[in-house]
Amino acid sequence: MAASTEALPDAAGPWEGGWHRFAPRLPSPNHGPRPAPGNPVDLIVLHSISLPPGEFGGTAVQQLFTNRLDPQAHPYYQNLRGLQVSAHFFITRSGQPQQFVDCDRRAWHAGQSSYRGRGQCNDDSIGIELEGLEGLHFEPAQYRTLAMLCRDIALRYPIAHIAGHQHIAPGRKQDPGPGFDWAQLQRALGWPRHCFPKD
Ligand SMILES: [Zn+2]
Repeated sequence: MAASTEALPDAAGPWEGGWHRFAPRLPSPNHGPRPAPGNPVDLIVLHSISLPPGEFGGTAVQQLFTNRLDPQAHPYYQNLRGLQVSAHFFITRSGQPQQFVDCDRRAWHAGQSSYRGRGQCNDDSIGIELEGLEGLHFEPAQYRTLAMLCRDIALRYPIAHIAGHQHIAPGRKQDPGPGFDWAQLQRALGWPRHCFPKD
Protein backbone atom coordinates (compact mmCIF):
# COMPACT_ATOMS: atom_id res chain seq x y z
CA MET A 1 0.00 0.00 0.00
CA ALA A 2 2.96 2.32 -0.39
CA ALA A 3 2.13 5.41 -2.40
CA SER A 4 2.41 4.36 -5.99
CA THR A 5 4.97 6.02 -8.17
CA GLU A 6 2.43 5.50 -10.95
CA ALA A 7 -0.22 7.61 -9.24
CA LEU A 8 -1.79 10.18 -11.50
CA PRO A 9 -0.41 13.69 -11.28
CA ASP A 10 -2.13 15.71 -8.58
CA ALA A 11 -3.99 17.84 -11.09
CA ALA A 12 -5.76 14.79 -12.51
CA GLY A 13 -6.03 12.63 -9.38
CA PRO A 14 -8.53 12.67 -6.54
CA TRP A 15 -6.53 15.09 -4.37
CA GLU A 16 -6.05 18.83 -4.13
CA GLY A 17 -3.30 18.90 -1.52
CA GLY A 18 -4.71 16.99 1.43
CA TRP A 19 -8.33 17.58 0.37
CA HIS A 20 -10.31 14.99 -1.55
CA ARG A 21 -11.64 16.48 -4.73
CA PHE A 22 -15.04 14.75 -4.55
CA ALA A 23 -15.91 15.30 -0.88
CA PRO A 24 -17.78 18.48 0.02
CA ARG A 25 -15.69 20.47 2.50
CA LEU A 26 -16.87 21.60 5.92
CA PRO A 27 -13.63 22.95 7.37
CA SER A 28 -13.18 22.32 11.09
CA PRO A 29 -11.04 24.50 13.33
CA ASN A 30 -10.09 21.38 15.30
CA HIS A 31 -6.75 20.34 13.83
CA GLY A 32 -3.05 20.98 14.15
CA PRO A 33 0.26 20.21 12.49
CA ARG A 34 1.50 16.67 12.19
CA PRO A 35 4.65 16.20 14.33
CA ALA A 36 7.81 17.10 12.51
CA PRO A 37 9.83 15.07 12.05
CA GLY A 38 7.05 12.52 12.31
CA ASN A 39 6.23 8.97 11.42
CA PRO A 40 4.60 8.33 8.06
CA VAL A 41 0.79 8.51 7.93
CA ASP A 42 0.29 4.76 7.58
CA LEU A 43 -2.96 4.14 9.54
CA ILE A 44 -6.64 4.70 8.77
CA VAL A 45 -8.87 4.74 11.88
CA LEU A 46 -12.58 3.95 11.48
CA HIS A 47 -15.21 5.31 13.83
CA SER A 48 -18.98 5.45 14.10
CA ILE A 49 -21.03 8.37 15.34
CA SER A 50 -24.58 9.70 15.23
CA LEU A 51 -26.19 12.57 17.09
CA PRO A 52 -28.35 12.16 18.97
CA PRO A 53 -27.10 8.56 19.16
CA GLY A 54 -29.11 6.37 16.79
CA GLU A 55 -30.67 9.26 14.84
CA PHE A 56 -29.44 9.53 11.28
CA GLY A 57 -29.68 12.19 8.60
CA GLY A 58 -29.37 15.33 10.71
CA THR A 59 -26.57 17.87 10.83
CA ALA A 60 -25.50 17.61 14.47
CA VAL A 61 -22.32 15.65 13.73
CA GLN A 62 -21.26 18.31 11.26
CA GLN A 63 -22.07 20.96 13.87
CA LEU A 64 -20.03 19.10 16.51
CA PHE A 65 -16.97 18.87 14.26
CA THR A 66 -17.15 22.59 13.50
CA ASN A 67 -17.81 23.71 17.12
CA ARG A 68 -21.33 24.85 16.23
CA LEU A 69 -23.41 22.32 18.15
CA ASP A 70 -26.03 23.97 20.35
CA PRO A 71 -25.85 22.27 23.78
CA GLN A 72 -29.52 23.19 24.34
CA ALA A 73 -30.77 21.42 21.24
CA HIS A 74 -30.90 17.98 22.88
CA PRO A 75 -30.25 16.69 26.43
CA TYR A 76 -27.48 14.42 25.16
CA TYR A 77 -25.55 17.40 23.84
CA GLN A 78 -24.93 18.62 27.39
CA ASN A 79 -22.27 15.90 27.58
CA LEU A 80 -20.55 17.34 24.54
CA ARG A 81 -20.34 20.95 25.72
CA GLY A 82 -16.92 22.42 24.99
CA LEU A 83 -15.70 19.27 23.28
CA GLN A 84 -13.31 20.02 20.43
CA VAL A 85 -13.10 17.05 18.11
CA SER A 86 -12.86 16.34 14.42
CA ALA A 87 -12.21 13.64 11.87
CA HIS A 88 -10.83 13.97 8.40
CA PHE A 89 -13.94 12.41 6.85
CA PHE A 90 -17.57 11.62 7.66
CA ILE A 91 -19.64 9.21 5.55
CA THR A 92 -23.42 9.55 5.81
CA ARG A 93 -25.81 6.58 5.71
CA SER A 94 -26.38 7.29 2.00
CA GLY A 95 -22.65 7.11 1.32
CA GLN A 96 -22.01 10.83 0.95
CA PRO A 97 -18.45 11.70 2.02
CA GLN A 98 -17.70 15.02 3.71
CA GLN A 99 -14.26 16.31 4.66
CA PHE A 100 -13.50 18.42 7.73
CA VAL A 101 -9.70 18.44 7.99
CA ASP A 102 -6.88 18.49 5.45
CA CYS A 103 -5.34 15.01 5.52
CA ASP A 104 -1.88 16.58 5.71
CA ARG A 105 -2.98 17.98 9.10
CA ARG A 106 -3.58 16.21 12.43
CA ALA A 107 -7.29 15.77 13.24
CA TRP A 108 -8.64 15.11 16.74
CA HIS A 109 -10.48 11.77 16.61
CA ALA A 110 -8.40 9.12 18.38
CA GLY A 111 -7.64 10.47 21.86
CA GLN A 112 -5.42 8.33 24.07
CA SER A 113 -4.52 5.46 21.79
CA SER A 114 -1.87 3.02 20.67
CA TYR A 115 -1.47 0.77 17.63
CA ARG A 116 1.29 -0.97 15.67
CA GLY A 117 3.70 -0.11 18.48
CA ARG A 118 3.06 3.63 18.36
CA GLY A 119 1.01 5.84 20.66
CA GLN A 120 -0.93 9.04 20.01
CA CYS A 121 -2.57 7.74 16.85
CA ASN A 122 -3.82 11.18 15.85
CA ASP A 123 -0.22 12.05 14.98
CA ASP A 124 0.06 9.74 12.01
CA SER A 125 -3.41 8.49 11.06
CA ILE A 126 -6.42 9.53 9.03
CA GLY A 127 -9.78 9.35 10.80
CA ILE A 128 -12.99 8.35 9.03
CA GLU A 129 -16.34 8.53 10.84
CA LEU A 130 -19.23 6.42 9.58
CA GLU A 131 -22.71 7.64 10.44
CA GLY A 132 -23.95 4.83 12.64
CA LEU A 133 -24.31 3.33 16.06
CA GLU A 134 -22.19 0.71 17.80
CA GLY A 135 -23.84 -2.67 17.28
CA LEU A 136 -25.86 -1.65 14.22
CA HIS A 137 -25.02 -2.59 10.65
CA PHE A 138 -23.69 -0.10 8.12
CA GLU A 139 -25.13 0.58 4.67
CA PRO A 140 -23.75 -0.85 1.40
CA ALA A 141 -23.33 2.73 0.13
CA GLN A 142 -21.12 3.47 3.14
CA TYR A 143 -18.85 0.50 2.38
CA ARG A 144 -18.58 1.62 -1.26
CA THR A 145 -17.59 5.17 -0.32
CA LEU A 146 -15.27 3.93 2.43
CA ALA A 147 -13.44 1.63 0.01
CA MET A 148 -13.11 4.46 -2.51
CA LEU A 149 -11.69 6.77 0.14
CA CYS A 150 -9.26 4.15 1.48
CA ARG A 151 -7.97 3.47 -2.04
CA ASP A 152 -7.52 7.17 -2.74
CA ILE A 153 -5.89 7.79 0.65
CA ALA A 154 -3.42 5.00 -0.14
CA LEU A 155 -2.46 6.81 -3.34
CA ARG A 156 -1.24 9.75 -1.30
CA TYR A 157 -0.08 8.17 2.00
CA PRO A 158 1.81 4.90 2.66
CA ILE A 159 -1.15 3.20 4.34
CA ALA A 160 -0.23 -0.13 5.94
CA HIS A 161 -3.02 -0.54 8.53
CA ILE A 162 -6.77 0.00 8.92
CA ALA A 163 -8.19 -0.32 12.44
CA GLY A 164 -11.24 0.71 14.44
CA HIS A 165 -11.26 3.12 17.33
CA GLN A 166 -12.04 0.01 19.42
CA HIS A 167 -8.68 -1.48 18.38
CA ILE A 168 -6.52 1.57 19.10
CA ALA A 169 -8.24 2.44 22.40
CA PRO A 170 -9.42 -0.97 23.71
CA GLY A 171 -11.59 -0.84 26.79
CA ARG A 172 -12.19 2.89 26.32
CA LYS A 173 -13.87 2.93 22.90
CA GLN A 174 -16.19 0.44 21.17
CA ASP A 175 -16.72 2.03 17.77
CA PRO A 176 -17.35 1.23 15.01
CA GLY A 177 -18.44 -1.90 16.89
CA PRO A 178 -19.59 -5.43 16.08
CA GLY A 179 -21.91 -4.26 13.29
CA PHE A 180 -18.97 -3.30 11.12
CA ASP A 181 -18.05 -6.01 8.60
CA TRP A 182 -14.25 -5.99 8.33
CA ALA A 183 -14.27 -8.94 5.93
CA GLN A 184 -16.52 -7.00 3.55
CA LEU A 185 -14.12 -4.04 3.59
CA GLN A 186 -11.15 -6.33 3.06
CA ARG A 187 -12.87 -7.98 0.07
CA ALA A 188 -13.77 -4.60 -1.43
CA LEU A 189 -10.21 -3.33 -1.10
CA GLY A 190 -8.36 -6.55 -1.89
CA TRP A 191 -5.66 -5.55 0.59
CA PRO A 192 -3.72 -8.24 2.52
CA ARG A 193 -5.16 -9.65 5.73
CA HIS A 194 -2.31 -8.21 7.81
CA CYS A 195 -3.51 -4.67 7.06
CA PHE A 196 -6.66 -5.33 9.12
CA PRO A 197 -7.32 -5.91 12.84
CA LYS A 198 -6.66 -9.42 14.11
CA ASP A 199 -9.97 -9.96 15.93
ZN1 LIG B 1 -14.39 6.85 17.65
